[in-house]
Amino acid sequence: MSAINSNIPEGELTGKWTKFKSSVPLVNPSNKRSLEIIVVGSGLAGASAAATLAEMGYKVKCFCFQDSPRRAHSIAAQGGINAAKNYQNDGDSTYRLFYDTIKGGDYRAREANVYRLAEVSANIIDQCVAQGVPLAREYGGLLDNRSFGGTQVQRTFYAAGQTGQQLLLGAYSALERQIGMGKVEMFTRHEMLEVVKIDGKARGIIARNLLTGELERHFGHAVVLGTGGYGNVFYLSTNAMGSNVTAAWKANKQGAFFANPCYTQIHPTCIPVSGDHQSKLTLMSESLRNDGRIWVPKKKDDTRKASDIPEDERDYYLERRYPAFGNLVPRDVASRAAKERCDAGYGVGASKLAVYLDFKANTERYGRIEASKNGIHNPDKETCMRLGTEVVKEKYGNLFDMYAQITGENPYETPMRIYPAVHYTMGGLWVDYNLMTTVPGLYCTGEANFSDHGANRLGASALMQGLADGYFVLPYTIGQYLSKEISVKAIPTDHPAFAEAEDKVRGILDTLINIKGTKSVDHFHKKLGLIMWEKCGMARNAEGLKQAISEIQQLKKDFWSDVRVPGGKDEYNPELEKAGRVADFIELGELMCIDALNRNESCGGHFREEYQTEEGEALRDDENYAYVAAWENKGDGTFELHKEELKFENIKIAQRSYK
Ligand SMILES: Cc1cc2nc3c(=O)[nH]c(=O)nc-3n(C[C@H](O)[C@H](O)[C@H](O)COP(=O)(O)OP(=O)(O)OC[C@H]3O[C@@H](n4cnc5c(N)ncnc54)[C@H](O)[C@@H]3O)c2cc1C
Repeated sequence: MSAINSNIPEGELTGKWTKFKSSVPLVNPSNKRSLEIIVVGSGLAGASAAATLAEMGYKVKCFCFQDSPRRAHSIAAQGGINAAKNYQNDGDSTYRLFYDTIKGGDYRAREANVYRLAEVSANIIDQCVAQGVPLAREYGGLLDNRSFGGTQVQRTFYAAGQTGQQLLLGAYSALERQIGMGKVEMFTRHEMLEVVKIDGKARGIIARNLLTGELERHFGHAVVLGTGGYGNVFYLSTNAMGSNVTAAWKANKQGAFFANPCYTQIHPTCIPVSGDHQSKLTLMSESLRNDGRIWVPKKKDDTRKASDIPEDERDYYLERRYPAFGNLVPRDVASRAAKERCDAGYGVGASKLAVYLDFKANTERYGRIEASKNGIHNPDKETCMRLGTEVVKEKYGNLFDMYAQITGENPYETPMRIYPAVHYTMGGLWVDYNLMTTVPGLYCTGEANFSDHGANRLGASALMQGLADGYFVLPYTIGQYLSKEISVKAIPTDHPAFAEAEDKVRGILDTLINIKGTKSVDHFHKKLGLIMWEKCGMARNAEGLKQAISEIQQLKKDFWSDVRVPGGKDEYNPELEKAGRVADFIELGELMCIDALNRNESCGGHFREEYQTEEGEALRDDENYAYVAAWENKGDGTFELHKEELKFENIKIAQRSYK
């Protein structure tokens, strides 16, 4: 008997959310004023939730570890945000966005949640435009769209290559307004280190003031975690350096199940690793695949310059293998195809672990259009390239600049070299339809939950999900829980449960400081990252995963006996912050491998080498694995698996094809 209930409302898929909203119990305004909600996280998921809940009348406390809410990792998002508006009149609809997302996730997501996401997607754009977010517009003033992978329509709204920053400024403004009115109390430079439970319900958190080291107790009738993804478990990723799993991991230890931890997204278009010195990788937005064509030489170990390789000696392998979607196949498919070509000896650049992303053909095409607009008939190639470069600059200028600054090469003249890198985590805390974890009163939103993307997220869908959760879903669903809490008075933080939780946190910090070993925190993080990348990365197999589990167990022992954390705990100490996060990453890494080993199939970003079609595509086992794997932490590195069966009643489950 499963311990989890997804609480999906009865009825037709298309009517579930409307009916839910119309029948959910409400909390009246005066009761809202006495109900307190803690929101941990001020990225798109956290800031939108905190601002909206405060606007509704709840008393909100919001926490982030950065010095300002607007520095959350969401600011890094480049390419865009999806919405089924059908502005391009190209056949988009709520159903099509729902369908693309379920198929893109390789049939490993919950239908009801994904349909709701598609439904509210259009509201998000309206909300952001009303806030003044400068989404790109066409010449006539209408909002512009572009394509992202795994779709055949143009539904991605964007603000140059800074969509996340602009959306976050919108959410941040809404949050600041509530802070200004005294309805949100903001705690920057605070790190949540424990969930406090009383009588089985989440009732608060323990947070560390990162500037003073002081531990603080905070009560809430409910707690929301919008704490982002855990891609940095791999050490090298496109995530912000501070992104971590600590909040979700502490919640897991308090009874919130962790779902599908092994589902990691490897993004196909990143700047390749250049050496051992690196601590960060850089994304080249998926939007570039609208106009960039991906290719490798047809000849193995070809050392010629890209410009010296004639057209008929180039292999546009995505266009060759997937003619219907071409360069815009989903990320998991594009990443695997790049790895396949490089493994087979066709890679380019010094490391041979790179493929070309080439804008020449489309630059020329744009140039021809511009020439025609300017009355230049039969323009020569040079004119086309000159005019086309201006168009490309307008569309992707900041991304091209970033590439040039990092690599020292001019991408307007020579193709970019790219390779897949860790980018996003589809796994996260298990939540039901209400976004509540298995701990009553503990909610999870945005990238930190597992909710909507199955085994592979489509590009531009993370921003959509984070804002859907915060602006439109949680504000309704949390009322269902809080309507039953109206008679609960704020619990004083001298309650024994708070004291016990604080003691536990202090104990861990003391231990970390007192190990006084010989190796830096980064030493362990790097080692973990390498194990994860090599054995639980783009390709996995049973033997490698078993090895990884035992290597991580040894790493854990070494960490707790030999890590060196300089400084004290009652002061500003970034090394201590990192140590706590890496300790949690090590435990999570083991669970990721356990989960990957349990899932004897390939699906989306989880590619088990033993399970592939003759053409090297992911081979699912729907009979035995059409479930969400939700892991209960039983302590001491042991976990119990709970399965949420996935039912597909509105989409015919099939082998994914992008041909
Ligand atoms: C380079 C890059 C580009 C991307 N581009 C796109 C794109 O174009 N479109 C798209 O849809 N998606 C994109 N993504 C993915 C998307 O940006 C993220 O999934 C999304 O922004 C996550 O938002 P979030 O609010 O869930 O988390 P985050 O933005 O990571 O915010 C997490 C918040 O939690 C806080 N926090 C975390 N732990 C604690 C703790 N223990 N205590 C206190 N506070 C804590 C942090 O301070 C922060 O405020 C991109 C990702 C990357 C890496």
